[in-house]
Amino acid sequence: MGIMYKSTRSSGTEVTASQAILKGLADDGGLYVPVSFPNLPVSVDELAGLSYRETAYIIMKEFLSDFTEEELKKCIDSAYDDKFDTKEIAPLHKADGAYFLELFHGATIAFKDMALSILPHLLTTAAKKNNVNNKIIILTATSGDTGKAALAGFADVEGTGIIVFYPKHGVSQVQERQMITQKGSNTYVVGIEGNFDDAQTGVKDMFNDRELAALMDEKGYQFSSANSINIGRLVPQIVYYVYSYGRLVNDGEIKAGEPVNFVVPTGNFGNILAAYYAKKMGLPVGKLICASNENKVLFDFFKSGTYDRKREFILTSSPSMDILISSNLERLIYHIAGNDWAKTKELMEMLAVEGSYSITDDMKRELDIFEGGYATENETAETIRRIYKQDGYVIDTHTAVAADVYDKYKKGGDTATTVIASTASPYKFTRSVMTAIDKSYDSPDDFELIDKLCEISKVSIPQAIEDIRSAEVLHDRVCDKTEMKETVMDILCI
Ligand SMILES: *Cc1c(COP(=O)(O)O)cnc(C)c1O
Repeated sequence: MGIMYKSTRSSGTEVTASQAILKGLADDGGLYVPVSFPNLPVSVDELAGLSYRETAYIIMKEFLSDFTEEELKKCIDSAYDDKFDTKEIAPLHKADGAYFLELFHGATIAFKDMALSILPHLLTTAAKKNNVNNKIIILTATSGDTGKAALAGFADVEGTGIIVFYPKHGVSQVQERQMITQKGSNTYVVGIEGNFDDAQTGVKDMFNDRELAALMDEKGYQFSSANSINIGRLVPQIVYYVYSYGRLVNDGEIKAGEPVNFVVPTGNFGNILAAYYAKKMGLPVGKLICASNENKVLFDFFKSGTYDRKREFILTSSPSMDILISSNLERLIYHIAGNDWAKTKELMEMLAVEGSYSITDDMKRELDIFEGGYATENETAETIRRIYKQDGYVIDTHTAVAADVYDKYKKGGDTATTVIASTASPYKFTRSVMTAIDKSYDSPDDFELIDKLCEISKVSIPQAIEDIRSAEVLHDRVCDKTEMKETVMDILCI
């Protein structure tokens, strides 16, 4: 018997991996977590010899244990192919005393592609395995990058439809254009008058709406989630941490067994949680450094043990991290509480009702492998400029938050080899990146700035950017944050 999954909020029945992927969220509103953690199936020496796809297979088979070898390999081969512009899939770039793990070589040039290029295949395979005949409607709230990556992943995938909600005034020009030009007869994109948390709350409410589910079922539809709460997102993200470790051993940068720190620019806590799961499998991890922008709710949490979302929501130059409710933190809470669902439920209810909660001293002690840090807007811009001037390497705003947090952290004396998760191509946030390097780069035309970035970075313009230069706008729906359900019903004609 392989790994089973259960909810963070009740003692409810265990489900298989494919069932957890299909459902996204548990019926009680909790998140699915593995009931135990598998060990790395090969030694760290052996990791060094594995390709990305091979690493993906050995890690994912441990977590998705009801998928057959054939099913899983087919999913992996369909996902990590020439949609990525490098054979390595996730290459390491050495700069500024660290290794930048470039997770942006996929279809939409941000790290969400790492998981969203495989999720549609996992989901349609899971549906077949469980004799699901309904059409699966992916409902997603996005702070920018998830939306496009999910649209690209699901566009014209048979048996699925996808509806994406994004904050109309909270994403970059390039992010918005990427979404509203999306092709595919099964894709719908809606801007909301509200912020990302409003979008996410609206989507969560629809998932929990029994009446809506019944109406959908009558018409042959059911919801599933592509948000980072789905274990079909989480598990593929463990792969690149393990892979990067193997690369470092292979390149002679570390000895097998030596601990490595990971710095992760964090919003919803999905990416860094995957690193924590890699450590739980036995990957030699030193510190997990959680980097926030000015919405530093996680920094405060790691410092004080109190999570408090009652604060001003700040729009920053790293919009994919502009988040006050980090959904995936619920999984960490569950694990550090000793897999205690009752405690997790109590804290999550406090968060919903009072807007804050505090963890116990025992739970705090379990957090000692985490380190929290944050970067201000000025520090973020300064870091982009500094690393460009020093190494000729241009990083995006999200990655720069992490690089700044690491720069401050290492002054404390930790000299361990460190990997910084580089979560977006600088081409995705060209305006912020270019004005950080030099304020005189202030053309009102993003595409002019893109050409300039190409000139100074000597990195060619990714296909994803070329594609939207001339693309036609295909989606122009806008609704208020209170009208999300009506909008979905209108789209589905129910
Ligand atoms: C989504 C995203 C993040 C945050 O990742 P989480 O898993 O939500 O913590 C960071 N950077 C970029 C570019 C992103 O798209």
